[in-house]
Amino acid sequence: MFPEAFIKRLRSDLGITEANALLETLQSPPPVTIRINPRKIKDAWKELALPIAAPLDISEYGFLLSQRPVFTNDPLFQSGCYYVQESSSMVLEHYFSYADIHPDKEFNVLDLCAAPGGKSTHLLSLLHGIPGAMLVSNEVIHSRVTILADNLSRWGDSNVVVTHNDPSDFGKLKHFFDVILIDAPCSGEGMFRKDAGAVAEWSEDNVTRCAARQRRIISDAIESLKPGGLLIYSTCTFNHFENEDNTKWTASEFGMEILEQEHLYPGKAYGEGLFMAALRMKGTSSKNFISEITRKSVTKPYYKAEIPFLREKFIPISKGNLLKAYPSDCLDRMFFIESKLKTIRSASSIATILTDRNGKTTLIPEPDLAFSEVLKRNIFPEVELTYNDISRFLRCETMTFHDSPKGYLLLTYLGHPVGFVKNIGSRANNLWPVSRRVRLSHIIDE
Ligand code: SAM
Repeated sequence: MFPEAFIKRLRSDLGITEANALLETLQSPPPVTIRINPRKIKDAWKELALPIAAPLDISEYGFLLSQRPVFTNDPLFQSGCYYVQESSSMVLEHYFSYADIHPDKEFNVLDLCAAPGGKSTHLLSLLHGIPGAMLVSNEVIHSRVTILADNLSRWGDSNVVVTHNDPSDFGKLKHFFDVILIDAPCSGEGMFRKDAGAVAEWSEDNVTRCAARQRRIISDAIESLKPGGLLIYSTCTFNHFENEDNTKWTASEFGMEILEQEHLYPGKAYGEGLFMAALRMKGTSSKNFISEITRKSVTKPYYKAEIPFLREKFIPISKGNLLKAYPSDCLDRMFFIESKLKTIRSASSIATILTDRNGKTTLIPEPDLAFSEVLKRNIFPEVELTYNDISRFLRCETMTFHDSPKGYLLLTYLGHPVGFVKNIGSRANNLWPVSRRVRLSHIIDE
């Protein structure tokens, strides 16, 4: 079932007993694990209607489930209250702790190979509460960047710019990032457990090609790391060519120190298998020089009118008829990134600005506003829905709210905002985007 050359290499790297145990684990179904969004969920056991079996040691936000539910049917999955992620990836939390964080300095993080967004959502949770912390979440493959942007919208943090660039484009951001995560495309031996296609695609030649590509990616991005900055490198493959050989090469090529590296093999951890390493660049960083440059040079289209549903520390900016909210302590740097890279999404989209013939403006809430940290609660009238009714909403059905005020209503499920409708009395227009429509959501017998 597995390629002979793969089995042979595993046995020579790990010894026969460990390799055989690993091969056996690779044939069993993978465990199901989730990571909660700590901004939205405080007590997973009480707040999530999921079959939680145990907390995970690897992350304070991780939980093991006893079976796999249909996640897309869960309104709290749809509204970014948790992310479904294999558990070894959550070791990121430990490797991120090597980052040098100073409360009085800007803090810029790059997730270079980010789609579909597992590690970016985790990074955002780790950045939460760090003043001036900003994430650039990048994906080079066009077909994967939309799902990345969508997952980050649902997560709801506003201090993130989603970009669609080749790693070589990051050379122009010399010494900008404090932390760079390279979760590199790899030969995917860790995917063998759940993806037969990964087994079929595997070959020794592909391992060699992947290792060379990973070195190119590291070389392209490394210029943008600050002196003293942290590089976190990971793959979901087991071989040393793409892992230890590459970290050793990186350390000697760019004068870096390997702080820690490890394999998390399936069987030992609940996950599917991951290699992660932390490397520090020599030197110490100069202070906030990029912010100084950008503050002087970029003019920003501030939106002047008062926005009652916007929380205080966020700055409204209009781009065409789209109104967005930026965190005040990242605004300059987010504009700087937007000017340098191909930006797919940045900050939080909060409303579409509609101007009538007399110049009167109306703000139509953007769907992403419901998920976002920038939303001030209880400004829009809120309507808590049952599971069946929120499922109808997620299917984009037209609904009625005879007992609610006319105008925009914020719909919640178990207290969490999910989306908006415009109540016009006889019916309510559903503002859940068709692109996110949940086609298979089921209705429970009432
Ligand atoms: N970090 C993601 C997460 O946690 O959800 C998974 C990333 S996946 C292991 C590797 C990513 O690298 C994929 O999204 C893939 O599209 C992207 N990729 C493929 N070729 C690349 C290249 N030449 N340079 C940079 N990224 C590439």
